[in-house]
Amino acid sequence: MYAEANTTEITEGGIAAPPRAEKPVRPRKKLPVINKDFQLEKYNWHRVRRIIHLACFLVFVLLPFFNVMRFDIPRQRFYFAGFELWINEFAIIFFSLMFLLFVVTAVSMLYGRVYCGYLCPQMIFSEASINFEEKIKTFINKHFARKSLQARLWMNRVAVYSVLGVASVFLAFVFISYFVEPRDLFWRLASLDIVTAGGIAGAAVTLITFADFAFLRQRFCTTVCPYGYLQGILGDDNTLVVQYRDPKQICVECKKCIRVCHMGIDIRESPYQIECIHCGECVDACKLIMGKFGEDTLIHYAWGEKGELLGEKAKWYRRIGLRDAKRIAVFAIIFVYATSLAVAFSMRHSVLVRVSPNRATLYRIGDDNRVYNTFRMTLANRGKNDAAVSLAIDGLPGAVITLPSNEIPVSAGDSIPREFEISVPANSLPHEINHFKIHSLVSPDGTKNTFEETFVMPVEKEKR
Ligand code: SF4
Ligand code: SF4
Repeated sequence: MYAEANTTEITEGGIAAPPRAEKPVRPRKKLPVINKDFQLEKYNWHRVRRIIHLACFLVFVLLPFFNVMRFDIPRQRFYFAGFELWINEFAIIFFSLMFLLFVVTAVSMLYGRVYCGYLCPQMIFSEASINFEEKIKTFINKHFARKSLQARLWMNRVAVYSVLGVASVFLAFVFISYFVEPRDLFWRLASLDIVTAGGIAGAAVTLITFADFAFLRQRFCTTVCPYGYLQGILGDDNTLVVQYRDPKQICVECKKCIRVCHMGIDIRESPYQIECIHCGECVDACKLIMGKFGEDTLIHYAWGEKGELLGEKAKWYRRIGLRDAKRIAVFAIIFVYATSLAVAFSMRHSVLVRVSPNRATLYRIGDDNRVYNTFRMTLANRGKNDAAVSLAIDGLPGAVITLPSNEIPVSAGDSIPREFEISVPANSLPHEINHFKIHSLVSPDGTKNTFEETFVMPVEKEKR
């Protein structure tokens, strides 16, 4: 992308006008001889970004297919890290989402807008659509040079919008897969289901995606997205930023750094501009230009405006961003939070058993001269295999459970509400309120639960 940058560009000053107002020309130092053979080193930020963008695109497409993250609305399930969470497990869903939010916030504090520049799907697809449009334009200008300008303009529009239309259908499909099972969604699409809620949502998302990547693009970042504004609050003097430092005043005013910036800003004005996504493209641009003069880039990644440059020799913990007590505390919180979540997931049983008393009626006395109490039970099999649940009573002499079978089957994915009664012979218990335990055993995985319950007997005068 920097192939057009050459020495003629610099010495003759034949450079396109910048999108921003001109700044006063900086005083120049006498520059050394231009090195025409200078090559941008193999690993530059542009290349790093392209690799990460490709990896992120694959992750974005594959996450819902492998249940790594999906909020399945029709099934009311939340898939996270391969676990299937039911909507009634709200606490663990809530804390998982809060963890993700906390990580994004902490990363912003440490590494600035690295998410915007390297990971955000909006930025990835916006840049991809711009690059694609530029390539199409070059191709048409090269192969249809004899056509009129108007004709080439129309050819360009038709080609770009057609490809973006197809890409929007695909991206909308992937996006909706985060809320509807992808195979289910595919068959709905294949059967041209566009009248149900899913179909209408799909059509709407496709249209929005098309409008976004055809017209809005990076304008979304400075108009709609609140993340850039949040960054102003989260960052401090030790946050990683892209900044301009010219201690020897040797900037040649080539404005290459402005022209490569997709956000259309001049980083020399300030490292804290709301539009700057810290992508590092201007670092590469300046490295290329100043490299030709045998000088280092004037634009760098640095820890804060006056801090060390990224990669500068320092203790390892400072190099990874742990530069003050606040950051160490944030890392410690993330570690503890992640460990707690892992423990919560590991303690989660695939079959959920809940037992509670039904106190609509305290008790009833049967014709068989036994006293009955009613209980409610909910069984939810969140695993992939069928299971069975059996109950046992402890601490209630002569108690009998009224159930058709004490091996209650519960199929994978099923949730069963049940009511059952426990009875004891009248006059068998000394107190009106009697504490006892119900043990549940899930087979085949052998999970046990114990529920502390109370059994209500009639008051003395009723017994007589
Ligand atoms: S100023 Fe530099 S780092 Fe900031 S958005 Fe533009 S190219 Fe990226
Ligand atoms: S690319 Fe470097 S030398 Fe050129 S204008 Fe920007 S800061 Fe100055």
